[in-house]
Amino acid sequence: MTLFPLINQKTNLDFLTNAIKHQRVSNAYLFYGPEGSGSEGFALEFAAMLNCQSGTPTPCGTCNACKKIRRLEYSNLELVYPIPIRKDTIANDEPFKKFSLAEIEEIQEIIRNKAQNPYLKIKVPKAQHIPINFIREIKRRTYLRSQESGWKVVVIFDAHLLTEPAANAFLKILEEPPEKSTFILTSSNINTILPTIVSRCQALYFPALSPDQMRDYLIQHNAPENYVNLIIRLSAGDVNQALSLIDTEIDQFVSLTLDILRSVAVWNIKSVYNFVESLSAMQREDTIRFKQILLSIAFWFRDAVILKKGSESGDLVHSALQAEISNFVKAFPDFDPFYALTSVENCIDFINRNVYIKLALLNLFFNLKQALHTGKNS
Ligand SMILES: [Zn+2]
Repeated sequence: MTLFPLINQKTNLDFLTNAIKHQRVSNAYLFYGPEGSGSEGFALEFAAMLNCQSGTPTPCGTCNACKKIRRLEYSNLELVYPIPIRKDTIANDEPFKKFSLAEIEEIQEIIRNKAQNPYLKIKVPKAQHIPINFIREIKRRTYLRSQESGWKVVVIFDAHLLTEPAANAFLKILEEPPEKSTFILTSSNINTILPTIVSRCQALYFPALSPDQMRDYLIQHNAPENYVNLIIRLSAGDVNQALSLIDTEIDQFVSLTLDILRSVAVWNIKSVYNFVESLSAMQREDTIRFKQILLSIAFWFRDAVILKKGSESGDLVHSALQAEISNFVKAFPDFDPFYALTSVENCIDFINRNVYIKLALLNLFFNLKQALHTGKNS
């Protein structure tokens, strides 16, 4: 059992357990891997492993340290994360000095949510970087004598977002690390971290969740059964994405997919144009969600091929739309799935290459319409 609800990553857990057993805990770790793979949660778990008063590396969950760490309220656990940088802040200012009470409360709420679910990202509105004053503040605090015995653990989330001065300040700390302390950097983008930092950290890789692990996780989190296959595909091993799909009401997401396809099938030009507008707005605001809609359309055609062949309907990605897809196959028996799928792929490719988005979408919808009517010469 782990203190936080974490999945998989046994190799990393064993590695860290051994480090504690053999008293070979490093001053700095870099936990890296794709977004939502659990590196952040494991950083918190490691803090508990180091500080649990039960005397074993498996956190007991009941001692004083475990209880406080579980709520992220332990005085020897410091969390660092990207925050908005105020223009009038100077390098020695306390990092939250210029924040309003409402902003502070919002951050506290975000941290409480993180304690509930370590896969949730700490996303402070308008935060882009980890500024130098945040690192300086941590430096001050980690050199202070602490009220608690045990290890001081500093977790730096999204370490690739350290500003250059902040990264250099951090390197200074590593030159003379405070006693019995460890710094854990987490990142989904290791390539943009200063090589001098990477080389000083013990690096542990956290792979994305496998589809089976994701399935178990979704079932535990009461994801609607009919949507589990779709969420697994759209989230690609990222627990954070999977949760956000459940939270944003996956049924609405699926309805949108269906509405787009209906407009294309009957070629309702007004509604097609409306989707071009609304999807291009979505692309600006939430690129990930936008790409997921395109993938969702692609899965529709993939599923249509499965039903057309008479294969097992259990293999459908859109399990919730089985009846609609069956009707579609009957209404458009000559549809060209290859052309439809290629068109979606091309559209994603165009958008990645910054082709004018509305044009790319209109082109996609037109090609999809063509794909439905192939063989009918219409
Ligand atoms: Zn404990």
